[in-house]
Parts: sequence; structure tokens; C-alpha cells
Amino acid sequence: MRKKTKIDAFCRITEAICLPKSEFPRIVIIGGGFAGLALVENLKKEDLQIVLIDRNNFHQFQPLYYQVATSALEPDSIVFPFRKQLRGYKNVIFRLAEVQEVQSSDNTVYTDNGFLTYDFLVLATGSETNFFGMERIAEHGLGLKDIRDSLDIRHKMLQNLEQAAITCNDEERDALTNFVVVGGGPAGVETAGALAEFRNYILPKDYPEYPAFLMNIYLVEASGRVLSSMSKNASAMTLKYLKNLNVEVLLNETVVDYDGNVVLTKGGEKYFAKTLIWTAGVKGQFPDGIGKKNVVKGNRIKTNAFLKVEGYENVFAIGDVATVISETSPEGHPQVAQPAIQQGVHLSAIIRNLLHGKPIKPFKYKDKGSLATIGKRKAVADLGRFKFGGYFAWMIWSFVHLISIIGFRNKLLVGINWLISYFSFDKGSRIIIRPFKKERLNTKNKI
Ligand SMILES: Cc1cc2nc3c(=O)[nH]c(=O)nc-3n(C[C@H](O)[C@H](O)[C@H](O)COP(=O)(O)OP(=O)(O)OC[C@H]3O[C@@H](n4cnc5c(N)ncnc54)[C@H](O)[C@@H]3O)c2cc1C
Repeated sequence: MRKKTKIDAFCRITEAICLPKSEFPRIVIIGGGFAGLALVENLKKEDLQIVLIDRNNFHQFQPLYYQVATSALEPDSIVFPFRKQLRGYKNVIFRLAEVQEVQSSDNTVYTDNGFLTYDFLVLATGSETNFFGMERIAEHGLGLKDIRDSLDIRHKMLQNLEQAAITCNDEERDALTNFVVVGGGPAGVETAGALAEFRNYILPKDYPEYPAFLMNIYLVEASGRVLSSMSKNASAMTLKYLKNLNVEVLLNETVVDYDGNVVLTKGGEKYFAKTLIWTAGVKGQFPDGIGKKNVVKGNRIKTNAFLKVEGYENVFAIGDVATVISETSPEGHPQVAQPAIQQGVHLSAIIRNLLHGKPIKPFKYKDKGSLATIGKRKAVADLGRFKFGGYFAWMIWSFVHLISIIGFRNKLLVGINWLISYFSFDKGSRIIIRPFKKERLNTKNKI
């Protein structure tokens, strides 16, 4: 047999992606998340050929993944097709492809579907789940970083509850109805709160064959408080709300192993659970070809204050994948929606000014505050010097999320669903459409 060389293994697609002819400079934006879309929206009237590339044909509203995962919303309420969003934008082109490599020496990006050249390149590829190298947890746990992850969690939860009703083995039933959420940040807290509401309001009605207290929800957090990026006030209120919902919160504890049945903590405790949801970290994701010296903690691409990747003339990075490290923010900005949107808007001004030969300004992040909800009617808010929680914070949380969702139909769908569930305490989407399959998970989760 012929020996496989590195060149054999490296198969680069050599067909160009077809694009209309244009007299304008071409800007290629990889990723239509919050950052990429904000950039497109603010550049669409410029004399540019804008090519948005994404591996999905839709934008995803990640802050509500947990509601899809816990059967409160249908997936199509929180995703939106790019082609519909970009309708009528004459100089904006969408191409469905996954970018695999950037070759800056000849201003080319290579995708799984062909290559194309650029005058300006913007990496807005976001982040992915970080399992911190723990292979077994990546193999058996569930991340929450894609709409498909939300559906995996939902289907697994519903299948496990059905299986729990079938089995006569008490230990098996316990494991099927125990849920361990790892990571006490906003995603973990919101997921644990929503699971607790499912247990408190849905289980007694839908599954009369076993008592509601059978379903245990554990939230494991490595630091000494939940929502550690928010104020101490927010953390304390959140802990109280979670305890009221009967979520067992394990602080100063880390999960070190999981085999699909037993969760092992650093403290040596074992929890039997067939579902482990991992929200304990993310890391930047981007195609090959970006020099290693530009990659810093959290696999993020370091940029200068003008959002340009150092060492490149025409390559920029924005959003979760990027970090602007300065004296005032040595750790970079947080990986949340606001910095991504603000960088998208700011980069549009930089590119506009570069095109017109005008001076450019450095990016400065304006922190507009943080919100997190813990079950229905309870949330915490840190808005400047105003730090509060409860019903009013929940109203603000609901309003902010509703107006941020793209598309009138999606806003309406989410609004109606929330209204019904507000009065009925019901979650309408308890449907197993695509049975959860472990094999699919194993090929997807990367460590
Ligand atoms: C569960 C969860 C809850 C959250 N809750 C909140 C919240 O309440 N408030 C808040 O402010 N933030 C929240 N966030 C964080 C927020 O969603 C992110 O900070 C934000 O989405 C980052 O935007 P982005 O544009 O950088 O990346 P993303 O929104 O992740 O978009 C990246 C895009 O790039 C595409 N892409 C990636 N790689 C490639 C490639 N190689 N080729 C082609 N396309 C590619 C992806 O398909 C995607 O469309 C939450 C995140 C999660 C996961």
C-alpha cells in the first residue's frame, strides 16, 4: 500500500466560489453572529462588495438556547435565515460554507465549498464549548453552544423521563431523572432554573407515575459564588432564588470525570446522572492560518485597539473570537453579546474611514450592564450603580431579550409563548422530533 504523506492527507478545494462581478473592494466576513451581522448592517450602504460566509444558513440567538433545551420555545423562534435578513441589500452576498483556512499571503480564504479572495477579511467566528481537555466529559456530556445542542438536551431530557417511567430499577430511574449542570455563569444558572421549573410545574401533571421530587437538579460551580462576573448582590440573590426552586448548588466544587452515568467531583463526591450539561467555559474558534503568536488565553485572537489582527494589514477580528487587550482591560472584554455588537458597529466606522482616507478611532467598550434570569418572574440586574433583583429585573430581562431577537415573526412567537407560559406555567414544546443519539454527539464535541 502506498504510504500516506502529509500532502495526500491535505485536500484543498480548488474551485472558486462564484460571486457577481463588482468594481468595489471586497470585504469577506466569516460568521453571521452578533458581531458579523452588526458589521453587515452598518456597512451595507458603502461602496463595497460584502460577502458574508457562515456554515449555517441562519443567525442564532444564543441567550435563549436554554429555553429551547427545556421545551419552552421551538428552535425556529430563535434562529433567523440570513437570506431573509439580507433581502434587498444590493451589495451584500451570502454564501453557505465553512471556512477552513485563511491564507493571508494571497488574500484568500479556503472553505469546504471553494475558495475566494478578499481585500478586507473579518473573523467573527465566535466561540465553542471548552471542555478543558477532559475527553470523557466531552464524550458523554452535552454542551450548549449551538441550536443543535439545545435540541440534543431537550430530546435527551424527554427520552430519559420516558425511560424512567418504563424502568423498574430504582437506581436506573434515579440516574435518568438527575440532571447535573456544570458552570454557574448565566447559561448554567438559567438552565438550572428552567429545569427546576420543568420539574416543579410539568412533571407532576405529565408524569403522574412518579413523584416530582424524584428529579434532582445539581448546579456545580468552581468558584465561591454563582454569577461571579456580576455583583455580589446579584450572586447572593441568585443563590436564594435557586434554592427556592430546589436546585442543589455545589459551590467551590469541580467536575473531574463523567462516564455517562456517574459524575465525579474533585471533592470525591459521586452523583448518578444520565444527563450532564456543560456550560463551564468557551474558547475562541477560527480557521487555520492565523499565526500562533496572535492567539492568547481562551484561544482568542489578540487585536490592536483598531480591531486589526497584529501582523496583518487587512485582517480584523471581532466578537467572542477576538480580544482587545489594553491597560484598562488586561483580560480583554467579556464574551457576551454587547462587546460583539459594539465591535461590529465600530469596525464598520473604521472600514468606512479607511475607504475615505479619514482618521480612525480606537475601540472602547461601553459596559451597559448585565442581566440574568432564574426561572420565571425572577431575575437579577446590574445596571451601573443600580443593582437589584426580583420581578422588575425579570421584566427588564424579558423586554431586552425580546427586542434583541431578529425578525418580527420570531419576536411574536417568543412573546406569545412567554405570555401563555406566564399564565399557565406550561412549556409547550415537549416533543421528541429527532431522537437523541449518542453517536452523533461523539463526532461533534471537540475537547
Ligand atoms: C447558552 C448561552 C447563553 C448566553 N447568554 C447570553 C446573555 O444572556 N447575554 C449576553 O450578552 N450574551 C450571552 N451569551 C453570549 C453571546 O451569545 C455571545 O457572546 C455572542 O453570540 C458572540 O457573538 P459573535 O458574533 O462573536 O459569535 P457567534 O454569535 O457565536 O457567531 C459566530 C458565527 O460564526 C459562524 N462560524 C464559526 N466558525 C465558522 C467557520 N469556520 N466558517 C463559517 N462560519 C463559521 C457560526 O456558525 C456563527 O454563526 C450566551 C451564550 C450562550 C452559549
